[in-house]
Amino acid sequence: MTALKDRISAMIRASGPISVADYMRICLFDPADGYYTRRDPFGADGDFVTAPEISQMFGELVAAWLVAAWEASGRPPQPLFVEIGPGRGTMMRDMLRTVDRIDPGLLAMSDVVLVEASPRLAGVQRQALASSPGNPAWAATVNELPGRPLFVVGNELFDAIPARQFVFAGGAWRERMVALSTDGELRFAAGAPAAAPRQTGQRDSVPEGTIFEVAPAREGMLHHIASHIAAHGGAGLFFDYGSLQGGFGDTLQAVKAHEPVSVFDFPGDSDLTSHVDFAALADVARAHGLVPWLGTQREFLTATGMVQRSERLIAGTGPQKAAQIAAERDRLIGESEMGELFKVIAIAAPDLALYPFAAG
Ligand code: SAH
Repeated sequence: MTALKDRISAMIRASGPISVADYMRICLFDPADGYYTRRDPFGADGDFVTAPEISQMFGELVAAWLVAAWEASGRPPQPLFVEIGPGRGTMMRDMLRTVDRIDPGLLAMSDVVLVEASPRLAGVQRQALASSPGNPAWAATVNELPGRPLFVVGNELFDAIPARQFVFAGGAWRERMVALSTDGELRFAAGAPAAAPRQTGQRDSVPEGTIFEVAPAREGMLHHIASHIAAHGGAGLFFDYGSLQGGFGDTLQAVKAHEPVSVFDFPGDSDLTSHVDFAALADVARAHGLVPWLGTQREFLTATGMVQRSERLIAGTGPQKAAQIAAERDRLIGESEMGELFKVIAIAAPDLALYPFAAG
């Protein structure tokens, strides 16, 4: 039992079941007891390990991509370099070091902004970047970004933004709810019949119990970013755990200390995510006249030079460190490791020749 579980149960007792999206939002971002509000989830001592925490090469290659996107855009003055959901700040630290090395004048004419919803994590990021170049600033939402060319990145951001679930029950699509069982435990329940989510193709012949996820809050954030890029120029790059096709299925999952746990056992003390539907994100980009490029993390990192970068790092070190660098690289690009499970979407205006997606 966690303090948050007590409060959620009391809330449901008082005013009825809550949607899966509300449950996810409360578990992750409750101001007092939410997971990102309170805990330090990252790294070996935490609950999960992310790509930038595995190797500096990840942030280095992402930084090189952002600089290339800025160059392909015609080197606009006063660009914004933004990371949304920067966690511990590790990737931004690696990116700022790299941008400074590639083009020492660029940071001086840029604004660097970290968009972070958790005040506690923003504090962790400030410490991590205390001696980094670029004079970074913080914002709590993407709405605060000024209207300038935007070069933006996010890693494992969208899977932390709440998704709704629908369940096909009793011949109708219904919002999937979190309710209380007769013995007072949290459990799933089907709500009142609802309009079928658009993305199901309004199909009403699926097997009883089929689940479909939609994430209006994720798509809403990308709508905002895409409309900014369509109006002011720029490019976006987002990595996440998810699928390139979308489809039916329940992907809500909780992780604690690197092990899967029930989504109801440790609300606020376990990470709660659902897979990102990249096809839905691509539709959002197209709706703003941008071109989405979709691929796997492996495809992106190999095309942008991870193997060569690892060889450079290995050449300057001893055998033990060399083996570690090779292992970290293989974890990021390995087919049975993160390379295929993680996907990437890049978005930009159609006339931008974005490496490695467009030749030339
Ligand atoms: N990118 C980091 C952290 C991933 S965890 C890494 O790869 O290690 C998800 C991050 O997104 C956390 O920092 C979380 O607080 C933040 N986050 C989640 N929803 C957000 C939102 N709506 N706006 C800004 N940050 C958000």
